[in-house]
Amino acid sequence: MVEDQDPTGPVALVTGGTRGIGLGCAERLRDEGYKVAVTYRSTPPESAGDSLRGILPIECDVTDPEQVEKAFATLEGELGTVDVLVANAGIVRDGLMLRMGEEAWQSVIDTDLTGVYRVVRRALGPMVRARHGRIVLVSSVVAFLGSPGQVNYAAAKAGLVGMARSLAREVASRNITVNVVAPGVVETDMIAALGKARADELRSMVPLGRSTTPEEVAGVVAFLASDDAAYLTGVVLPVDGGMAMGM
Ligand code: NAD
Repeated sequence: MVEDQDPTGPVALVTGGTRGIGLGCAERLRDEGYKVAVTYRSTPPESAGDSLRGILPIECDVTDPEQVEKAFATLEGELGTVDVLVANAGIVRDGLMLRMGEEAWQSVIDTDLTGVYRVVRRALGPMVRARHGRIVLVSSVVAFLGSPGQVNYAAAKAGLVGMARSLAREVASRNITVNVVAPGVVETDMIAALGKARADELRSMVPLGRSTTPEEVAGVVAFLASDDAAYLTGVVLPVDGGMAMGM
């Protein structure tokens, strides 16, 4: 048990939850009464300060199957089996196709696509047995729009849509929903790393005329986890200010 957690609440796991969108989701779910755990890799939980109050941090690199198994064993021992999984961890390794080596391709696929497969697969068994579960995959508008210099990232994020829709059909009869959020431009380290010129260019593509925050994305994720979304599965919800509308 973590201090301040409601012992009766359902359990939520957010991967990559010590900063950015993942942290926003973890805080929101905690505030809604979930018992929340986050995984982290390079960003230690201390750096999130008070934001992680009442949240269980577990070290886990999603590219390592053993670490995934160990993280779930810790989580299940401390909080119980996962009711809500938010597969959020992701990286970029940008570069034009002609210069993109196998390593840059493979590392993004292994984290953003295969890493999601690993955590979803591990979370699924207990959900099937419980005949209840909510799985939310964090994709990107780039899956639909494409983005120069991001063939690896776009391929992985588009792959999540196929994964979610296939899995949604597999597990619907077990009352497990599988949905995708596709954020546009969210003010996090990932956008900051693009540099001002590219970030401004992306912001100028947003019909609502602004970027968004981890908190706004978290609100949509929390909705997909909620009872109000019980009849939604295989849905791809853009959270992009209209950036990829109609795609
Ligand atoms: P971020 O870089 O701040 O956070 C990414 C998180 O993933 C970090 O906590 C990081 O430690 C974790 N992570 C990376 N590799 C990992 C690994 N191998 N194992 C475990 N954890 C790992 O970026 P963010 O913007 O908060 O991104 C969160 C998600 O949202 C990502 O999947 C990203 O692709 C997606 N997204 C972001 C934006 C945006 O504009 N920021 C837009 C669309 C989609």
